[in-house]
Amino acid sequence: MTMADPRLIQLVMSLRGQGVTDRHVLAAIERTPRGLFVPERFVDQAYENRPLPIDCGQTISQPLIVGLMTQLLNLNDRCKVLEIGTGSGYQAAVLSRLARRVYTIERYRTLAKEAEARFEALRLTNITQRVGDGTKGWPEQAPFDRIIVTAGAPVRPDTLLEQLKPGGIAVVPVDNDRGTQTLIRYTHDKDGSLREDALMDVRFVPLVKGEAKAL
Ligand code: SAH
Repeated sequence: MTMADPRLIQLVMSLRGQGVTDRHVLAAIERTPRGLFVPERFVDQAYENRPLPIDCGQTISQPLIVGLMTQLLNLNDRCKVLEIGTGSGYQAAVLSRLARRVYTIERYRTLAKEAEARFEALRLTNITQRVGDGTKGWPEQAPFDRIIVTAGAPVRPDTLLEQLKPGGIAVVPVDNDRGTQTLIRYTHDKDGSLREDALMDVRFVPLVKGEAKAL
């Protein structure tokens, strides 16, 4: 086994201090070199706890948010997970270390291609990706044990929640009236009811309906 990058160890310690306490999630972050997921000119900042720009005017989420959202999903190695908004692929990579299989959808072909190359380089073979409109979910692969949306949804994403298994969990940033989003955890109880917990304010790029025209 190789020694973890000291910058990663430091990042993990700082996340732990800020509420990411699940040791499996921390270990997954420690094993995922964030420097590989950002453009060359930002590599120096990759191990700081901040979002960074990626291609197509999008962003790679802040590590703390990745950690907290992953923790909220309460994953295990039997989980089939759907992610909307592949972006850099970083969140998917972290999920792939904790779940059985990750399905991820991105509307920009450029980003999807870059993410695919990273998954290959890291040999993350349990990630399946697709270019398309994630607001429709992935009906051919539904239902999912877990769903994570990494872009701000204007309203409760019912189409996605319909693809969640009974007993499943979805974590979604939903627009609020303060110009940000509220991170909501939806728990699909076995009796069919949907429970909603509003957790914290977050700021994501918007979830855009439809296919991306260029790129
Ligand atoms: N999870 C990413 C964060 C990406 S930011 C990471 O770890 O880097 C959100 C991403 O959602 C952007 O790449 C954006 O293009 C994508 N997105 C926005 N609307 C979408 C939609 N309808 N379907 C699929 N992807 C979408």
